[in-house]
Amino acid sequence: MTRRISQGRKATYYIGGIIMVIGALMFFSTFVTFAMHFGDFDNFEDNARSNAIRAFGGMSLLILGGIIMGVGRRGLAGSGAVLDPKQAREDLEPYSRIAGGMIKDALDESGISLGSAGRPGSEAVAERVVERVVMIKCPACAKLNEEDSKFCQECGDKL
Ligand SMILES: [Zn+2]
Repeated sequence: MTRRISQGRKATYYIGGIIMVIGALMFFSTFVTFAMHFGDFDNFEDNARSNAIRAFGGMSLLILGGIIMGVGRRGLAGSGAVLDPKQAREDLEPYSRIAGGMIKDALDESGISLGSAGRPGSEAVAERVVERVVMIKCPACAKLNEEDSKFCQECGDKL
């Protein structure tokens, strides 16, 4: 299982970002050239067409870059580009792990330990909880005995 976001996905994310920057520059350059050629009616149609192409191209690049960044961030399956729920879960794993970790931290702080199903160690946690509920501590030697036992297993003291 991949515990980290792969280099490929990071690269995809940055490429998407670069495309977005290029798109933004292209889009805003139309305002600059529009201002520069303002009142230039000789090449008005050419300028207008060039502006329209750049405005449209810039916007397309912005959208495309945004999509590529999303794919890089969440992975192909995680972003829904590829329909693969199993892979999606793996792609989104760093995010769900962070969310789960934050919940776990909050619970740890409040003194509640919660073993999630399927995670190693959850059985041990459950056993400890059961132990605390069912066992009683010997007043003499502090050995844990079963709740219904009358004498301590360790020292024979009356419970
Ligand atoms: Zn005892």
